[in-house]
Amino acid sequence: MERIFIKETPDKIGEKVRVCGWVQTVRTHGKIMFFDLRDKTGIIQVVIIPNKDFFAKAKEIRSEWVVALEGTINQRPQNMVNDKIETGKIEMLAEGLEVFSSAKTLPFPIDGDGYEISEDNRLKYRYLDLRRTRLQKNLVMRHKVFNFIRNFFTNEGFVEVETPILTRSTPEGARDFLVPSRLQAGNFYALPQSPQQFKQLLMVAGLERYFQLPICFRDEDTRGNRQPEFTQLDFEMSFVEREDVMAINEKLLVALVKAVYPKKIIQEIPFPRLTYAEAMGKYQSDKPDLRKDKNNPDLLAFCWVIDFPFFEKTEEGGWTFTHNPFSAPAPEFRDDLLEKRNIPNIIAAQYDIALNGFEVGGGSIRNHQADALEAVFEIMGFSKQRIQENFGHMLEAFKYGAPPHGGTAWGMERLMMILENEPNIREVMAFPKTGDGRDLMLDCPAVIEEARLKELHIKIEVLKEPDKN
Ligand code: ASP
Repeated sequence: MERIFIKETPDKIGEKVRVCGWVQTVRTHGKIMFFDLRDKTGIIQVVIIPNKDFFAKAKEIRSEWVVALEGTINQRPQNMVNDKIETGKIEMLAEGLEVFSSAKTLPFPIDGDGYEISEDNRLKYRYLDLRRTRLQKNLVMRHKVFNFIRNFFTNEGFVEVETPILTRSTPEGARDFLVPSRLQAGNFYALPQSPQQFKQLLMVAGLERYFQLPICFRDEDTRGNRQPEFTQLDFEMSFVEREDVMAINEKLLVALVKAVYPKKIIQEIPFPRLTYAEAMGKYQSDKPDLRKDKNNPDLLAFCWVIDFPFFEKTEEGGWTFTHNPFSAPAPEFRDDLLEKRNIPNIIAAQYDIALNGFEVGGGSIRNHQADALEAVFEIMGFSKQRIQENFGHMLEAFKYGAPPHGGTAWGMERLMMILENEPNIREVMAFPKTGDGRDLMLDCPAVIEEARLKELHIKIEVLKEPDKN
């Protein structure tokens, strides 16, 4: 018999059906047994009466065994109706049982929210943790958001392009993860901190409108709510100015909330705008929380922060970029940049999107002319040789006819965390790592065999014993 999903069972009263899933709870009332059977769509109460030939087998079943049950869907007696679940008005009278798998006792309960359970345990047994309704819902909502974004960009004439994972270092303010090359002894790839250079090169290539939902990698120091790998919405457009890119961001965010989170309220549309100086002066933050009612879990207060300084002082007294070295200056500062004067006052054509006190996105109009990009690196004290070695390909590309362009990237986990009112980004990811970058389920990072290292031409000399936890 064909299996149906549990959520379909209320429409099958009087019919015989087959459902499959996990036995969530087993209860006995006198001689009768009750199972709550769970699949990805819901829970159904199954009644098993002793005169059935499979009753003895049914008595062995414990929580989380995986079974198929066949039987007739009946209306529950009025006093047994449970209004809290979708299948609360019906139950199944079992007429057949098939056991697919037994199950050990789970290391923790999965029927609650799970916030109270030690996170190490939850991450070690993530495949069990993910059985809980809250996390399944988070993954489903994440899919709906991603799907909405894909459709939105497709309708707006964007093309989804996947860019490489084995790549060369991009300066985005963090350390790169490195991958040794076996074929090019002594050389390393870097995992992308973002597809920044590729998306700009796609603009030089004439794609005009690109988007992607890429995984990005940043090797940052342990920080509670960061992950070494995370997902962005990344997009780039040609022949645009700052207002055009801001407008499409806003259009997408408003449409997304309306379609996928219709109960949520956006506090102000168009999103209010603050300059960096205003935000810092008024809120001491470049991602201010503008919510008028911080207790309302459905309130979304988006705002733009614009007019960021391009450069900031390094600890050594030089200059570095505040956001993205590929940004253009605001048009009125172009000459200052080219002349390398008035550096602390140069404003970047950068815009950030803040939401309820978090930075959820940022982008800029880029330097599409080689001389301006070169000036940025010169201000940062890079030698001609270093500029050539690291960014020669960008400078070269811009000499073959580069359109003016700009784009944005959103941090998808941060956005999902806020939309789902979760306390951290790990709750909206399938397989997150710990704050110090370990995968407790796969137990990695892990030691690599000597032979594999040899193949990679690598000899390890441990300069510092790693901290043992
Ligand atoms: N690549 C930038 C980032 O990852 C975003 C952008 O400017 O498009 O933050």
